[in-house]
Amino acid sequence: MRIIFVFLLIALLAFAAVWLSDYPGDVRLAWGGYVVETSIVVVAALALIFAVLVALLYRFWVWLKKGPGRIGAVFSSRRRDKGLEALSSGMVAIAAGDAVEARRQAIAAEKHLSGEPMTLLLAAQAAELNEDDRAARIYYDRMMQREDTEFLGLRGLINRARKENDLKKARSLTERADELRPGTPWVLKELYELALKLRDWELADHTLARMTRGKAAKGEAVKRARAVISFERALQCLNAGKAEEALPLAVLAHELDPAFVPAAVLDVKLTAELESPRKLHKLIAEAWKNAPHRDLAEAIRKTVSGEQPPDWLRRAQETVAPHNPDHVETHLMLAKAALASSDWGPARDHLMKAGGDHPPASVFRMLAELEEKANADAIAAREWILKSAIAPQDPLWICNACGRQEDVWQAHCPVCDSFDSFTWRTADRGPHAVDEIEAEIVREIGTSL
Ligand SMILES: [Zn+2]
Repeated sequence: MRIIFVFLLIALLAFAAVWLSDYPGDVRLAWGGYVVETSIVVVAALALIFAVLVALLYRFWVWLKKGPGRIGAVFSSRRRDKGLEALSSGMVAIAAGDAVEARRQAIAAEKHLSGEPMTLLLAAQAAELNEDDRAARIYYDRMMQREDTEFLGLRGLINRARKENDLKKARSLTERADELRPGTPWVLKELYELALKLRDWELADHTLARMTRGKAAKGEAVKRARAVISFERALQCLNAGKAEEALPLAVLAHELDPAFVPAAVLDVKLTAELESPRKLHKLIAEAWKNAPHRDLAEAIRKTVSGEQPPDWLRRAQETVAPHNPDHVETHLMLAKAALASSDWGPARDHLMKAGGDHPPASVFRMLAELEEKANADAIAAREWILKSAIAPQDPLWICNACGRQEDVWQAHCPVCDSFDSFTWRTADRGPHAVDEIEAEIVREIGTSL
């Protein structure tokens, strides 16, 4: 078709040329002082050449318009290469902790690869390394505005908020991160730690459940953490005057960790208030077996109000002691009860057994009291008092992280704010032992979470 068309065109042009030469004519053009005279054939030829030129120019322009990158392509690919080079050098500088080089490469990357997620990340990290808080925040904010970098920006801002100890802001940012990518392990861990720090026990409970969901073996450390959280939730209910709501939480805390003394104490106290005597009796037996402790003995004593010392001694002997007869705390409980009811024989007997090889100071003090009250023997009493001065201290709740000593167990250390760091022990352990216990706990939590 094309060949036929070209052939026809040539035939038409030839015919026109012949026709024009058959009818020759002149064209005369006068403009200003110039006069141009030529034949019509030349004018027709010039018009044709002009038309062809215009057509060619138009096609060139279309070619240019269709590929704007055609000319820029060479330059932009070089820019991209430079930008990528700056990015990788910058990341290497960050890993090496070279703040100056990181900043230099971040600026280069920004110049060549502006607006790329990686460029923003490099800039933010370089700002962090240079301890330029303001710049870091600006870059994280810019990352927050882009869908593809919002999550990354959140992480940076959460770390910033944590550094500035703005826990509430950190929590709201972490909750946003959780919305964006639910169940991300670091987000859950962050949320859990923030909930603990903010004493938001419900959030802590909920988050811990999410963290451990689907895990076959729920470790002892997780159970313990849940026990402490449930205990604190029970206390919250109790403080709000809702004893009925506190009871199931205290029961749960006690069940999760039967050796957790404060939960056993609270369970006994609330069960005595709200449940049947039969249930209380069963609970006391179980609690004294797993968590014998002076606080628990006191809680059990108080379950009967207005009880006289001899009655308490008999109740302790008959209903509490048999469940853990050889424990130091059992002997201490019975010794105290016997002292209070002036039953000197059993008091001395249990004090001797409570002391073991290295009796604590309180046993010596009770022996002194015994000598004074039973035999009015001031000299013997003085001897026990002197011994108590050099005896090991009585156990206390001691923070494993900082060594703080408290009479009452607390979920958070009032000094170092460590969570669940108090253990019941004597203070005269060396710092080495404390470190060992701490390392053990960290290891345990690490493997079970
Ligand atoms: Zn502490």
